[in-house]
Amino acid sequence: MKLFRLRGGVHPESCKELAADRAIRILPMPERLYVPLLQHVGATANPIVHVGDKVLKGQLIGSSQGIISAPVHAPTSGTIIAIGDFPAAHPSGLTAPTITIEADGEDRWMESEEVADPFLLSPDEISKRVGAAGIVGMGGATFPSAVKLNLSRKNNVHTLIINGGECEPYITCDDRLMREHAASIIEGVRLIRYAVGAVDVMVGIEENKPAALLAMRAAAKDTEVKVIAVPAMYPMGWDKQMIKALTGLEVPADGRTADIGVLVHNVATAYAVRDAVRFGRPLVSRMVTVSGGSVVEPGNLEVPIGTLVENLFQFCGGFRDKPARLVLGGPMMGIQLATAAVPIVKGSSGVLALTSSEIGNVQPSPCIRCSSCVRACPVGLLPLDLAAHIRAGDSNASVALGLKDCIACGCCSFVCPSHIPLVHYFNFAKGELMEHERIKLKQEATKKLAEARNERIARIERERAEAAAKRKAAREAKERAAKEAAAKVATETV
Ligand code: SF4
Ligand code: SF4
Repeated sequence: MKLFRLRGGVHPESCKELAADRAIRILPMPERLYVPLLQHVGATANPIVHVGDKVLKGQLIGSSQGIISAPVHAPTSGTIIAIGDFPAAHPSGLTAPTITIEADGEDRWMESEEVADPFLLSPDEISKRVGAAGIVGMGGATFPSAVKLNLSRKNNVHTLIINGGECEPYITCDDRLMREHAASIIEGVRLIRYAVGAVDVMVGIEENKPAALLAMRAAAKDTEVKVIAVPAMYPMGWDKQMIKALTGLEVPADGRTADIGVLVHNVATAYAVRDAVRFGRPLVSRMVTVSGGSVVEPGNLEVPIGTLVENLFQFCGGFRDKPARLVLGGPMMGIQLATAAVPIVKGSSGVLALTSSEIGNVQPSPCIRCSSCVRACPVGLLPLDLAAHIRAGDSNASVALGLKDCIACGCCSFVCPSHIPLVHYFNFAKGELMEHERIKLKQEATKKLAEARNERIARIERERAEAAAKRKAAREAKERAAKEAAAKVATETV
């Protein structure tokens, strides 16, 4: 099949050999699980259990709120021992509302409804089951999958693309999932296609995963699903890049993939969809790669949601030496962790413990205007100019140059011969912009409240004055009537 030319991209050392050939192992159930109520894009789920409640595996413990949200479920059976703030997977060490479960060791599932032939369900019912299972984009985007399915139906999506790119160095969990569970993934893909009514369906897999390509092609044989090898480059796993490679279509800078009739889901999401629709099982675990030069025995694990990152490292033999950096996700777009005592969430594809030689620590030097960063940017931005405006404090100019379109992929920093941490500038500037926008929204909301209050006071005063005028008029009319009546009596008496 013809592939289309891509803009930008880089070829970092893959480092996938550390874990790629390690089959998925199931992590033994930890004593405690810490399940955050916000593991998705959208509104935080609302806890519906209380401290002391007994729960079964798969039981709903947090209900979704509003249109864009996702429910959360108990990843094992046990007792709720706390509901409150717990450190989240964030560089700042911020906390987030979290439900803590003490496992009872039985790992007992709640009853669920198995469907013999899920293709006899209506598309609406499939969306409903996906929503109830709390499935979100498991490639890291964490957008609620049912919302995406419903939007796609409304937008008459014609093409479904399943993303098996997994372009981040070190991360191999999707590769292993495709090698070991290809038939289940293909069934999930066909269910998504049926639910949205797409005509074409393609699975894009990087050519550096030959075993996954083989397994997926064998599973897709005699189905409508085409499995296609795409070039191994970073960021091939970015949805817009995968769409461009497979269809030649470009998603508008501020648009969504549905705007051009395309829906993209990750392979792990398709796997979770099959479990939810066929077996009625919610998303309570995921595959995670544990890797990096500091890890004694890197590998791929199936992990209950809410397991602490430190449990994964312990299971993989601990550290050879003290890691220089802990990362949740891949080294290009992952989050640097301040501590390993934070929970795995639905969007966590990997945890890395990197040595100082793996992270490198070269001091930046001045820009030599080589334009390597411009050629590497997959979005088509001018990173050197963006950085210059940010350094000069001119955020308006950086926004005009497309700062908001930057996907923080880090390609520009990766190729820069002067080792300028360009992506850090962009993340910092985007953080400042968000803060300004938040303050602006707050000021506008305060202004609106003050205006509404002034209007209310004016209306009350107006109504009071009108009521007083009415009372006065009524009193005067009454007095007038009394006077007239008295005058009439006086006249009749005379
Ligand atoms: S790659 Fe680095 S040195 Fe080259 S133009 Fe961009 S910022 Fe300057
Ligand atoms: S981090 Fe932003 S500016 Fe740099 S290459 Fe990626 S999208 Fe372009």
